[in-house]
Amino acid sequence: MRYEGAVFRPPSEADSLIIQLTIGCARNDCTFCYMYKDKKFRIRNLDEVIEDLEVAKKYYPKELIKRIFLADGDALIVHTKDLLYVINKAKEIFPNIDRVSVYAAPKDVLNKSPEDLIKLREAGLKMVYVGLESGDDQVLKDVKKGVTAAEMIEAGQKIRAAGIELSMMIISGLGGKPRLVEHAINSAKAISAIKPEYLGFLTLRFFKNTELYKDYSEGRFVPITVPEIMDEMLLFLNNVDSDNTVFRANHASNFLSLKGTLNRDKEKLIKVVENAKETNNYRKYVETGF
Ligand code: SF4
Repeated sequence: MRYEGAVFRPPSEADSLIIQLTIGCARNDCTFCYMYKDKKFRIRNLDEVIEDLEVAKKYYPKELIKRIFLADGDALIVHTKDLLYVINKAKEIFPNIDRVSVYAAPKDVLNKSPEDLIKLREAGLKMVYVGLESGDDQVLKDVKKGVTAAEMIEAGQKIRAAGIELSMMIISGLGGKPRLVEHAINSAKAISAIKPEYLGFLTLRFFKNTELYKDYSEGRFVPITVPEIMDEMLLFLNNVDSDNTVFRANHASNFLSLKGTLNRDKEKLIKVVENAKETNNYRKYVETGF
């Protein structure tokens, strides 16, 4: 396989074969994101992608590969016909594949018809990862996400209506001090409207090659403190209504490890957060660089 630059994948794709269908991210604008700053976006030549799959067959017994993650940042931007071609070829080469997954930008989801999404699901696209980041319009605007909360909700509901599993991510602290309350409550509203199968919380970190780092260093972005991160989480949990969403805030960036299923475990999760706040007992920040 020919990997170009740093390749990112969600933690749950640790056992997947990763194939780059696109290079970089078509937007590459979000002020907090460092992932693809060194890459100029392009969709790869499909023959090269298939060659990579053929090369992978030489390294791994074909029975072993059950999952494929199509990188980089927003593979759903690729035309449906080409995505179907790649997925079907991948299944020919690795007949045991039972899940194909991608990162997707909300606009790419909105650009697909419901029929396209159903065709992709039937071909094997079983999981889509979407960074909600925030359900608050002002925060989304400030971080240059390029979509509104309403568009995020529409995109999330569209994926779910097509029967594709949806994993979303929120960034704790993304609103800074001025938007703490709105970030928490409007994110809870967005998740309640979408009800994704999976929801993860990361904590905001400042990466040196980002615009947000510059804003932070020059005092234009005021971060929230660890106890305020707990307040934000409490506001979120108290306002969210998303039955059966698997909830995780156990990434190395989280100051408190939380996991459970909404809404069933909401009260337990709230107690864990309240207890950590009362006892001032937080996990040490772990630097992973993802
Ligand atoms: S957060 Fe997602 S959409 Fe934004 S620049 Fe990073 S990869 Fe692209």
